Amino acid sequence: MLNKIGKIGKLNKKEGRELAKLWIEKDIRWCEFDEPHSCNFGIFPENAHRHKKKWYRGKPDELRWSIKQVARLCNNSHNFIEFDAKKTAEFFERLRGSEEISS
Ligand SMILES: [Zn+2]
Repeated sequence: MLNKIGKIGKLNKKEGRELAKLWIEKDIRWCEFDEPHSCNFGIFPENAHRHKKKWYRGKPDELRWSIKQVARLCNNSHNFIEFDAKKTAEFFERLRGSEEISS
């Protein structure tokens, strides 16, 4: 159990580092949500994923920081899409196009 937590913690840290690099590389410095909303990116910038955490398990780690799979969002817009699978899917389709992954 301890080992498992250690492993996940390590991967989460790596993901954070890789995403920070990705945003610089792609020059994405703002909230990417494309509908009018009360943006609080300045206070709460977040990394949003196309799929739930479970989906990435057992797949290559790199998917977690691949541009098709992630977006930079503020906390408000992240909350807005996160609990609605349809909204999440539609947003990523608009922003990144199809994900080109067979799962
Ligand atoms: Zn925002």
